[in-house]
Amino acid sequence: MPVGTLASVKGVPQDVLEELGVQILLGNTYHLYLRPGVEQVRKLGGLHRFMAWPRAILTDSGGFQVFSLTDLRKVTEEGVTFRSHLDGSSHFFSPESAMDAQIGLGADIIMAFDECTEYPAHRDRMLESMELTLRWAERSKRHFEPHKDEVPWNHVGTAALGCPGERSSPVGDELSATQEAAELCSARQPRAAVSTQALFGIVQGGMDLALRKESAQRTIEIGFPGYAIGGLSVGEPRGLTREVVESTLEHLPADKPRYLMGVGTPEEIVEYANLGIDMMDCVLPTRAARHGLLFTSVGKISIKQARYAGDEASLDPNCGCRVCLRYSRAYLRHLYASNEVLAQVLNTVHNLSFYLDTMRAVRHSILLGKETGSSCVWSRPKP
Ligand SMILES: [Zn+2]
Repeated sequence: MPVGTLASVKGVPQDVLEELGVQILLGNTYHLYLRPGVEQVRKLGGLHRFMAWPRAILTDSGGFQVFSLTDLRKVTEEGVTFRSHLDGSSHFFSPESAMDAQIGLGADIIMAFDECTEYPAHRDRMLESMELTLRWAERSKRHFEPHKDEVPWNHVGTAALGCPGERSSPVGDELSATQEAAELCSARQPRAAVSTQALFGIVQGGMDLALRKESAQRTIEIGFPGYAIGGLSVGEPRGLTREVVESTLEHLPADKPRYLMGVGTPEEIVEYANLGIDMMDCVLPTRAARHGLLFTSVGKISIKQARYAGDEASLDPNCGCRVCLRYSRAYLRHLYASNEVLAQVLNTVHNLSFYLDTMRAVRHSILLGKETGSSCVWSRPKP
């Protein structure tokens, strides 16, 4: 899932994301709550309509972002008081208000409010934090159930949309453009077929495998349609991340989506998919792109380096994205060195394309494995 923090994947318009084959985007509740505000998004019909994105969206609970405001937050049983990174104003998130915010934003998948345990932490601290997350998971579900029908899709009329098909009959050349727009509009209509969101639970427990097991079992007892593994990628060594994921996965039902939060590099997403992870999100492809770091089939490329100044080759000879088909490394290097906005756009499009291609190959491999009955494991050839 590409990360679209503020209802935007930085630098990439929604139609390009569709063309790249993005099926689901992640939005950050903390950021959207501060700007433009949940009420504003709700009034505008929810995130899908606001950002003109007809495909799926997942929002996080805000817990992780608040967790990263180390000096600006205070955690109690009730919830978390925090200061905005924008203007220092004081705010409060509880499991209940995090549910209200996510219902108001109206993503398809929303997350229980959790506490992300810091690393490193003593076992007592990991236990205490895990227990708090479990109590908050129960409160999240208890609040979500009676309020889940309040999603903005259920409360928006179609008249205000101004869809072209409703205004006039298409003629001649206008037909295909109008059809396209009407298709988009229909995606922005109230989602009658999907009347509520799916609330996922989050497993915590720090780096302690026994606590992870307990957290998984008790989160399953509360009961959610999908489960996430949270509290990783918080500074621990990569080997430890893998160990915790592998061990936690054993305790999560294979017939429900299993979501690993905040991971990872192209190699890691293949590795975790092979272990049984179904969903991942990471800022890496988009953030690295903006810093000129590009993932390719021939290894990582730092496009800012002078060695690419005269390189006429395409960025990645094995990539079919619109950037690799059209531009040379020399041009991309020039854009980056000149601080052109287009550098960020093109770099992000390629990196997202590379990640999505990687996951397409993984899915294809899983299907082949099912057909042939083999435990077909795909891995990207080493450069
Ligand atoms: Zn490319």
